[in-house]
Amino acid sequence: MAVTVLLVEDETSVREAVRFHLERSGYVVRAFASALEAWQALAGVDVIVLDWMLPDEPGIAWLRRLRESAFSALPVLMLTARASEMDRVEGLDAGADDYLTKPFSAAELAARVRALLRRSAGDRVRGALRVGLLELNLDAGTASFAAKELHLTRREFDLLAFLAAHPGRVYTRQELLDKVWGVDFIGGERTVDQHITQLRAHLGDDPTDSVYLETVRGKGYRMRAEP
Ligand code: CA
Repeated sequence: MAVTVLLVEDETSVREAVRFHLERSGYVVRAFASALEAWQALAGVDVIVLDWMLPDEPGIAWLRRLRESAFSALPVLMLTARASEMDRVEGLDAGADDYLTKPFSAAELAARVRALLRRSAGDRVRGALRVGLLELNLDAGTASFAAKELHLTRREFDLLAFLAAHPGRVYTRQELLDKVWGVDFIGGERTVDQHITQLRAHLGDDPTDSVYLETVRGKGYRMRAEP
């Protein structure tokens, strides 16, 4: 199966050069100039190449969000023009697996991506999440309940995947908006309630005595650890 690289780089010349080399190495490349667009395209990705300086969100903030999302296990190579040791430490602290300073050779980048994939192949559980009868395939972006496929919208899937990746942990509506919809989302907390209601309907979950998606009064929602 082809390996998919998510490339987030706003500088067109760098993006196209990297894309060219990665494609020549046999990878499928999804390239984006914006952090927000890239966030929407995470399902099915195997490795991420992320620029530090992006117009809509700093790469490092995007990376911190990634590490708290359903896609937290994805290996990330950061690109940056900043070479000081301080920045390097900050990037690694935020959860980067490797780091390349501009200007770099695209051939070296392809080699680093290969090395990252080799390292992560051993410890990454390939995109599967299971909670009770619920099963999510993060690579394919599909979900099933009691072995029956669920037909979810993109947002429903992302919300369910996020909660299922952190079972037992309570999230406020605002936290869910930030983590699932993104910090740029304009809309109220009611959006979260609507999506939870829809998801409960998909799971046949009783809203007053929910087995999976529990309302924690005065706080928010959580996925029960042992439904
Ligand atoms: Ca940039």
